[in-house]
Amino acid sequence: MNDILPDQCAIWQYLEDCFRAVAGSRGYREIRFPLLEQTQLFKRSIGEVTDIVEKEMYSFEDAGGDHISLRPEGTAGCVRAAQQHGLLYNRQQRLWYQGPMFRRERPQQGRYRQFHQFGLEAFGMAGPDIDAEIIELSAAFWRRLGLADSLKLELNNIGSAADRERYSAILGEYLASRADELDPAARGRIRSNPLRILDSKHPGNRQVARDAPAMTEYLSPESVAHYAALKQLLAAAGIGFTENPSLVRGLDYYNCCVYEWTTEVLGAQSAVCGGGRYDGLVAQLGGRPTPAAGFAIGVERLAMLLETLGKLPANAQFRADVYIVVIGGAISAASQALARRLREQFPDRRIVCQCGGGKYSQQVKRAFDMNARLLVVMEQAEGEPPRQVKLRDLHNSFEPRLAPIDQCGQEIGRLLSQNL
Ligand code: AMP
Repeated sequence: MNDILPDQCAIWQYLEDCFRAVAGSRGYREIRFPLLEQTQLFKRSIGEVTDIVEKEMYSFEDAGGDHISLRPEGTAGCVRAAQQHGLLYNRQQRLWYQGPMFRRERPQQGRYRQFHQFGLEAFGMAGPDIDAEIIELSAAFWRRLGLADSLKLELNNIGSAADRERYSAILGEYLASRADELDPAARGRIRSNPLRILDSKHPGNRQVARDAPAMTEYLSPESVAHYAALKQLLAAAGIGFTENPSLVRGLDYYNCCVYEWTTEVLGAQSAVCGGGRYDGLVAQLGGRPTPAAGFAIGVERLAMLLETLGKLPANAQFRADVYIVVIGGAISAASQALARRLREQFPDRRIVCQCGGGKYSQQVKRAFDMNARLLVVMEQAEGEPPRQVKLRDLHNSFEPRLAPIDQCGQEIGRLLSQNL
């Protein structure tokens, strides 16, 4: 499990603020649901014969004998929660969520056993317009982060559940005829989940997959029309994409259009976002048939991409707005009183008061450690209460200025409002 340090938290806060703004401005509302769910929920939704369910879930029996798992992804829990609370009953719903997910994968750069996602799901809309809206939303998020040129959209049509059933049978027959060229894991999946063999990285499997009958030949006219309309909508929105016939996704609930946003900057773990339609899932989990679509973004990979490309803006770093120090180093009730007054006057600013005394130079170093903007220096004269403070802008070199202590708030407000 990876620790998330303060600097990373500041970056994540920035990402969360941006995502919340982009999703919120399109009518998506935040939903929260538990990290623990019944294991059965994930088996029924993601699929029994998938890597996630077969080998990556953290599952256990609790003291009451219930089989529960840490959520490996968000869609299943989101559908369960939305359905249980009547959010899907006879209406459309646009939802987003965020939080940790857990998969017991081999840890490496960009792949963790506890990772975080921003997820988004839309329910009750069957047309390609909602797919285009969701993809456009992700594109707007990349633009806002300055990543528009660093991420590419890959798209595929995996057909309806019925199309896939038909195609899986044909693919299974083909794969069985070349079973001796496949690795043992793939051989075991010829009947249970032949589609997953198509996106395998194993060289032998890849060779066999290259010559496999193409899914496009087995798609229903409805799937073909839906996908074609989505491509037109994306073109109209100015969103470029490449079609990747081997993109099948690792979760069984997807149908029709699926996609991934990938980057060349992060090495092997190149997918930053994955999504698609999942029209059968709500009914499969006991609800009324409800068309649905959504995506999930990997927050660690996104943060890594921003850092690698040097695209982090100043507000993605922690900054104290005001740091109060006391010359003479004495522990001072006056500096605490000033901090209290400033916090009341500027409730949204970060006002930090030096604690523990120390030499002036050490105190100033602490202010720099906190990336402070304004240094407020209080001079404590022997036996007399301080009457004035010196203000220094640590991000902007101007002559320090003096202000009477009881009126310094006004000057501090003026200096902070000057954007750098
Ligand atoms: P998925 O739920 O598998 O479609 O994944 C959606 C996104 O979550 C991926 O594109 C990655 O960015 C991210 N992701 C998935 N698994 C991991 C992991 N083990 N560690 C870090 N990020 C992950």
